[in-house]
Amino acid sequence: MTSLTPTRITPGLTTVPTTVDVVVIGLGITGAGVALDAVARGLSVLAVDAHDLAFGTSRFSSKLVHGGLRYLASGQVGIAHESAVERGILMETTAPHLTRPLPSIIPLAAGVSRPMGTLAGAGFLGGDLLRRAAGTSSDTLPRPRRLSAAETRRLAPPLRTDGLRGAYLGWDGQLEDDARLVTTIARTAAERGAHVRTHARVVSATGQQVVLRDELTGTQVEVSARAVVNATGVWAGELVDDVRLRPSRGTHLVLRGEALPGLDVAVFAPIPGETNRFVLVLPQPDGQLYVGLTDEPVDGPVPDVAEPTEVEIGFLLDVVAASFARPLRRSDVVGAFAGLRPLLDGGDDATADLSRKHAVLTSRTGVVTIVGGKLTTYRRMAEDAVDAAVAAAGLGASAGPCVTATLPLAGAAPRAALADAAARAEHPGQARLIRRYGADADLVLSAAVEASGWSTADLLAPIAEGVPTVGAELFFGVTHEGAADVADLLDRRTRIGLVPADRALAVPAAERVLAATRTQPA
Ligand SMILES: Cc1cc2nc3c(=O)[nH]c(=O)nc-3n(C[C@H](O)[C@H](O)[C@H](O)COP(=O)(O)OP(=O)(O)OC[C@H]3O[C@@H](n4cnc5c(N)ncnc54)[C@H](O)[C@@H]3O)c2cc1C
Repeated sequence: MTSLTPTRITPGLTTVPTTVDVVVIGLGITGAGVALDAVARGLSVLAVDAHDLAFGTSRFSSKLVHGGLRYLASGQVGIAHESAVERGILMETTAPHLTRPLPSIIPLAAGVSRPMGTLAGAGFLGGDLLRRAAGTSSDTLPRPRRLSAAETRRLAPPLRTDGLRGAYLGWDGQLEDDARLVTTIARTAAERGAHVRTHARVVSATGQQVVLRDELTGTQVEVSARAVVNATGVWAGELVDDVRLRPSRGTHLVLRGEALPGLDVAVFAPIPGETNRFVLVLPQPDGQLYVGLTDEPVDGPVPDVAEPTEVEIGFLLDVVAASFARPLRRSDVVGAFAGLRPLLDGGDDATADLSRKHAVLTSRTGVVTIVGGKLTTYRRMAEDAVDAAVAAAGLGASAGPCVTATLPLAGAAPRAALADAAARAEHPGQARLIRRYGADADLVLSAAVEASGWSTADLLAPIAEGVPTVGAELFFGVTHEGAADVADLLDRRTRIGLVPADRALAVPAAERVLAATRTQPA
């Protein structure tokens, strides 16, 4: 029995189909990408997450669309090229609305020796070769160049200036937000007919069947499928015995923009005693700064949400503080978050870093597991996983070729056209919606008007003092994006929750919206 074709993401398992071509387990970037790839090939799809869209690692990234420079440096030319190609696809075709070029500088400061500076400059030039080889325009990502000390001071006013010889300037891609990318991919899949369900946990899986539990009602449902794809990231081994992972934690800090006033380029701060390792300061669209990243092994059971330690926070703060004139204090840290990288456990304490390259593994019962990779390469990972599932399940006659390289995500439009529309917007809230939903900004507002009966002025107003999110975003989260509770709205559809003090201010607005849409309050 198949239910009506959906066009929106919904919570729970009501009216879920009991037979589909493909079940996708997990709605991080990987599962969302698999769901879109499969439905765009003409397959029927049910894609679920035990908690919510982007509940796992995908919301705790550095939010960069990497060109693969790191891999080039370690001689992994194939992976580096793949990253650069996928970066170009995201920035120029599928998601120009959710990506932007991010200027980054490596300051040539007193602590950076001349050989280290030369190496860093060569790295940016290598990155530019990757861009060119991938066919990405220099209009999208400008060429790197050397800056004088005066230019560097103008570009990054809060830097320490004693001994500053200049900087190298390079460009990479930055996401509006990682969870927003996941949500947009999942919504694009739903618009094409995939059944996309939040708060629906797979409790057991074989290659032909899954047992699901509706986490809102406790009801269990069995669904038969011709193929089952396990995209549960660091939890992949909990559903499939033959996959064993050992995660590693990466932590970021959140600072208010005022901590380093006038900084709108990313800065590589050298880690003392290391020749080519840096902590990055990353300016964000809403004016915050993220500082990252650590790499700490995690033993024992995988937690639902990883917690940064005070030691990691202190380390990041100390490294960054050394690059800036203004002292940074623990009180400047208004939030901190951590994500878990999936490392393949080879036994005997050996691990292989799957976060470099993705792997597709088919279990004894036929479950196809896709793990590793990164946000940037999700589309290619999804293509490989669906290819494997189609081959394993003999779905070749029903499935067309992969089309996602040329399939714009919901709301995609040329970056310049969106910038123009945002500049002409009559209300700052409208410009914000354009920034976060691209050409779907009007859809978001009209859906919110319909669901709430509120005026557009009320829906475009910030939901709390000092919190720029507007009411329309919360309503749309409920009506179109499967949000069911306060945490879905504040921690995934918006990222207010990354700063606990802001989250506390925003809870009443989220509760109001949930009550107005008669959805279960948190
Ligand atoms: C600290 C850090 C920074 C990073 N920065 C970047 C970056 O800047 N750029 C980049 O390209 N990449 C980056 N990466 C890599 C990237 O974030 C990850 O590769 C990617 O997010 C992994 O996504 P995923 O969908 O495979 O897993 P996840 O996002 O963890 O998704 C798995 C999902 O499965 C669900 N799930 C689990 N069990 C079940 C079940 N039984 N039933 C249903 N659902 C279930 C979970 O709720 C979860 O939502 C970073 C990684 C880390 C750790």
